[in-house]
Amino acid sequence: MSTTRTAVITGAASERGIGRATAHALAAAGWEIAVLDLDEAGAKTAADEIAERHGVRAIGLRADVVDRDEVAAAVSTVESTLAPIGALVNNAGITSPIRFLEVSDTEWDRVFDVNVRGSYLMTRRIAPGMAERGFGRIVMLSSVSAERGGGVFGGVAYSAAKAALLGFSRALARELGPDGVTVNSVAPGLIDTDITAGKLPQERKDAMVADIPVRRTGFVADVADVITFLCRPESGYVTGATYDVNGGSHIH
Ligand code: NAD
Repeated sequence: MSTTRTAVITGAASERGIGRATAHALAAAGWEIAVLDLDEAGAKTAADEIAERHGVRAIGLRADVVDRDEVAAAVSTVESTLAPIGALVNNAGITSPIRFLEVSDTEWDRVFDVNVRGSYLMTRRIAPGMAERGFGRIVMLSSVSAERGGGVFGGVAYSAAKAALLGFSRALARELGPDGVTVNSVAPGLIDTDITAGKLPQERKDAMVADIPVRRTGFVADVADVITFLCRPESGYVTGATYDVNGGSHIH
């Protein structure tokens, strides 16, 4: 990249997660990196690791994406510390396998809060500066569950929340296109991370893999690579799109 810019990645503390891999991939492409996560120590470790490995400036901050004040404070720190924010990856997310007939209001709201409100608050805080500067790349982490109605691990609340992000991306892409800001979604299939907290039985995983045309679970790097592509300055004609990264498990 000729102009140095900062990429903000939420939920990038998780060591084996998509966010951490994405932060590394973006740093390797020359972006300065801000890691925002509930896990402050993990965010700082990630930032140190990124700065050391890629020779770019990186900071790790605590922010609960559901909390407007924490989001505002963290983004202000990023703005006063690093290069102007050019990319936002709304990666922080939680899943929940609870069946609809058993779901509580609290559980439904918890899933929507992190996945949808979190992406809204982050984007609401960062998009105005991008529009003002005439450049921005926003990526939402949706899921194949949004497209096929679950069937991986997440239940109805998760599928609905991830589907909300698709509408969010598309509508925002229309609004912000004239300002040089693209908005896209990435919909991963079964990626080997810790999001299911070990609650996806191996037999179920094996059965799913047998049905995936490329016959394996996804690597975090598979997803990070597509996100990095969408964040490039050269990807400015790609907006309002959904990129499937699912090994062919949902060809539609
Ligand atoms: P992960 O559990 O490894 O990492 C999620 C990170 O988000 C963690 O570091 C966690 O601390 C952080 N986080 C959670 N709640 C937060 C909050 N309120 N504020 C700030 N940070 C918070 O998950 P992952 O598998 O890497 O998933 C990353 C994203 O990709 C999620 O949005 C997930 O829904 C989506 N996704 C994952 C898969 C998969 O198979 N792993 C498939 C489709 C979509």
